[in-house]
Amino acid sequence: MCDDGETKCRRCGLCCRYKFWLDGELVFTDKYCQFHDKETHTCKVYDHRHEATRNRCLSREEMVKQRSVPTGCPYTDEDYVGPREPTEKELQDYHDDTEGAT
Ligand code: SF4
Repeated sequence: MCDDGETKCRRCGLCCRYKFWLDGELVFTDKYCQFHDKETHTCKVYDHRHEATRNRCLSREEMVKQRSVPTGCPYTDEDYVGPREPTEKELQDYHDDTEGAT
């Protein structure tokens, strides 16, 4: 989600990883936004990301509020806890549930 003006960003790219809600908890998937650059961990369409994603890309502030950036992201407080990693079964169930969906 970062550009050069976002100096605190470590460019981990984890905020571009899809998540899903499970029993009130936000859980990471193994999928990233289609515009995520795997080599640089940055957004390939950053300057027009809202249009490119049809406004599905939230601002950093919105992501922090939604608790969808990872634990340890420099834009969060010390006591912030982000999404957790899924178990293999949770990930398989997620893929089974979303197969064929867009
Ligand atoms: S999760 Fe935080 S540190 Fe990582 S890319 Fe996103 S804004 Fe940057």
